[in-house]
Amino acid sequence: MTQHLCSRPVRPLAARLLLACLCAGGLTAARAGPPAAPGFRIETLAPGVHAAVRTDPPGLMVDANCLFIVNDADVVVVDAPEASAELIAALRTITDKPVSYLVNTHWHDDHVIGNAAWRAAYPGLRFIAHPSLRDYLPGTGAKNRAGMIAGAPQAAAQMQAQLDQGKNLAGEPISAEERTSYASDIALVAHYMKVVPGTPDVLPDLGAAGDLVLQRGQRRIEIRRAGRGHTESDLVVWLPQERILASGDLVVWPVPLVGGEQSHVNDWSASLDALLALNPARIVPGHGPVQQDQAYLRQLRDLFADISRQTADARRRGLDLAAARKAVNLDDWRRRFAGDSPVRNAMFRMYVVGPGVQSAWGVEGAK
Ligand SMILES: [Zn+2]
Repeated sequence: MTQHLCSRPVRPLAARLLLACLCAGGLTAARAGPPAAPGFRIETLAPGVHAAVRTDPPGLMVDANCLFIVNDADVVVVDAPEASAELIAALRTITDKPVSYLVNTHWHDDHVIGNAAWRAAYPGLRFIAHPSLRDYLPGTGAKNRAGMIAGAPQAAAQMQAQLDQGKNLAGEPISAEERTSYASDIALVAHYMKVVPGTPDVLPDLGAAGDLVLQRGQRRIEIRRAGRGHTESDLVVWLPQERILASGDLVVWPVPLVGGEQSHVNDWSASLDALLALNPARIVPGHGPVQQDQAYLRQLRDLFADISRQTADARRRGLDLAAARKAVNLDDWRRRFAGDSPVRNAMFRMYVVGPGVQSAWGVEGAK
């Protein structure tokens, strides 16, 4: 997934941090947000429904959002980020009811590495995820995590050096936005290195290959398989009474996280259409603020449809992958997602342009 990211001088670092976000996951900076939990703030979306939303600025390292669903007698949690120790402490200030189920929306570390902490805190807890996690985590996931643990400190040191020299990763004078972003990335790497090495995988007890309904007292919680997109293992959690959707990384703000080999760009827009068909009032994305309407979801859907269309066009014209990369033009989309922000432009190039075309082309075709 890392080999065709970008031909600029930042490529080795970009490759490493893409691993961070797509294969392992990043972590928690200590930034206070009410009610005083580090790196995230709690937003109450409906009675008993609380989102823990990350407060980090956009950057190359991330930790995931988390959702607490407090029911009549228990709690259901969506995702287990690297900051799970802090999230458990935050939940305990809200309720003393036990957590009985935790749903991992997909297999990346920033959504699963906290499983061990949640199980230690709530021994009766059961984990629900797509069945593919049981193969991925001990195999490709373990390899990617080892690569991240080996490479992340060096990547953070390189970013620190850029900060010290007043230059961005492309060697240009650094902007204030880039400074804030790099500092956050460095803190997230430090937290990652504190939490992840040595933490055991806790695999799902219940595999959901299709839809699954949990009735917890008065609350109906639907675990849905909308389709693939970000990974093979994508699940979402839907609260039909509240019309709240926890999308996992099928929806990520400010730019989607695409893996050239792990993602399924040609399926992604249909999966987002399946989410739009639910008519959600609010969407808790895997990363980024709670979306108060469907506009961003539609924008993502249209982006992926366009990448698929342009890539298929290039193939029909007889181009190979290298030529297709040049032929597919996503500049309008980049402006729409990133505006004038240097950080978001860099993210769009890294996480969308290169891996997006590769994914749409197909892994077999790329060989
Ligand atoms: Zn992910």
